[in-house]
Amino acid sequence: MSLFQTVETPALTYEQPLGLFINNEFVKGVEGKTFETINPHNEKPIVAVHEGAEEDVNIAVKAARAALNGDWKRVTPSERGRLLTRLADFLERDIETLAVIEALDNGKGVTMAKGDVAASAGCIRYYGGWADKIYGQTIDTDINSLTYTRHEPVGVCGQIIPWNFPLLMFAWKIGPALATGNTIVMKTAEQTPLSALYVAKLIKEAGFPPGVVNVISGFGRTAGAAIAAHMDIDKVAFTGSTLVGRQIMKSAADSNLKKVTLELGGKSPNIILPDANLEEAIQWVNLGIFFNHGQCCCAGSRILVHEAIYDKFLELFKKRAEQNKVGDPFNTETFQGPQVSQIQYDRIMSYIKDGKSAGARVVTGGDRHGSEGYYIQPTIFADVTDNMTIVKEEIFGPVCTVQKVHSEEEAIQVANDTNYGLAAAVHTTNINTAIRVSNAIKAGTVWVNNYNTLHYQMPFGGFKESGIGRELGSYALENYTEVKTVRVHLSQS
Ligand code: NAD
Repeated sequence: MSLFQTVETPALTYEQPLGLFINNEFVKGVEGKTFETINPHNEKPIVAVHEGAEEDVNIAVKAARAALNGDWKRVTPSERGRLLTRLADFLERDIETLAVIEALDNGKGVTMAKGDVAASAGCIRYYGGWADKIYGQTIDTDINSLTYTRHEPVGVCGQIIPWNFPLLMFAWKIGPALATGNTIVMKTAEQTPLSALYVAKLIKEAGFPPGVVNVISGFGRTAGAAIAAHMDIDKVAFTGSTLVGRQIMKSAADSNLKKVTLELGGKSPNIILPDANLEEAIQWVNLGIFFNHGQCCCAGSRILVHEAIYDKFLELFKKRAEQNKVGDPFNTETFQGPQVSQIQYDRIMSYIKDGKSAGARVVTGGDRHGSEGYYIQPTIFADVTDNMTIVKEEIFGPVCTVQKVHSEEEAIQVANDTNYGLAAAVHTTNINTAIRVSNAIKAGTVWVNNYNTLHYQMPFGGFKESGIGRELGSYALENYTEVKTVRVHLSQS
């Protein structure tokens, strides 16, 4: 099978790389296997890509190690920044193609996908700006010493990303790692390998030395597990399910105690208090759960509404959700496309079935949309109770629950009644209430009168079982540097 294929889409025709990307070349996997990636809109294969497994990871790690100790080491921090900036420019130059690839492979609306490309370019450029601003400290301990710290790269970083934002997750991961001088072995999600392979081509074009970024398309139990257990990978960064996050930590502990950062799931509360601007709150609640078809780790899936406005809220929210344009990702008006895969579709539909049989009221939706593709109607459940599975477990689809609360205190108690702690929101027009509630909620991000407004300058990550470490902002740089203390004894003569 060849290493490139021309792909025709309703919007444009482009050249799709299919190989593993190792040492700046597209290559076949050692085992010679390929796997198909499916278009979730029509359930048909798009292309087959080459599959990487343990031996390919080993080869990629060797390439990454050689680059770390060779060409990449000699690239100055400012030049690293210029390379990242150039890559960001190329993403913007090819925004139409990249958005089309995301729409095709992931199913997100092409207009939404353009937002992802722009945010990815912004993130990479932002970290390009950091590259020559990574400083240690000088520490005055006594007159006979010079003590200083160096922030050195951790080394070879394994990065494992999910399918919900294929390109954006790639950008979030490579930005801070490259800015701080590390090299990378990236494993993309098996459902959505295409955009990363296209960006790999741009990485070479931008002028990154061979081996600095290596991209493996492959499966979790083979290529992913090989990264987590590898003895010559210094750090692993993972985004995905809490279940797999636990396995990654175990593997890291059982192998070389590589550093671990995890960005995992959530069941995030979105609180609407009686003094909220209801019209505006409804817009944010709608975006909070239905953006990206509910496939967001920070989705506002538990909506907690004060009894004083509960009925009115449900009436307006139902109306708003029913206006969401569900359909073909290549329609520029589409807000919600299909779920990413048959597996995800089945998983979400079984949660919907479970909610119905547990006695929750379907306010709107509750069924598939259309007859082809992995489409699910925007679904709102009301009159739910704390112990229902749909209230407790991450559904990762266009499904939310609306719960009635009777006070601010109860809203906080219910909001925190979860093992997760990724994000939350409160809607109120009282600044004191907003800050009081924000302080009381155990979550890595709290939005006040908005939702899902992530930005590459703002740290993002989880309390509790939602993760370890922070991505984005200056905080992410700490995950990718080792601090070295140097103490020099000064001769007195
Ligand atoms: P997953 O955690 O299985 O997959 C995420 C990534 O991890 C993929 O690249 C996958 O190949 C890899 N992986 C899987 N098993 C691995 C292993 N043993 N070792 C190393 N890597 C491994 O997630 P999924 O099965 O695609 O989705 C299941 C659920 O996970 C979703 O319903 C959702 O609840 C959650 N999820 C969360 C996020 C997030 O952004 N936090 C993203 C995707 C999925």
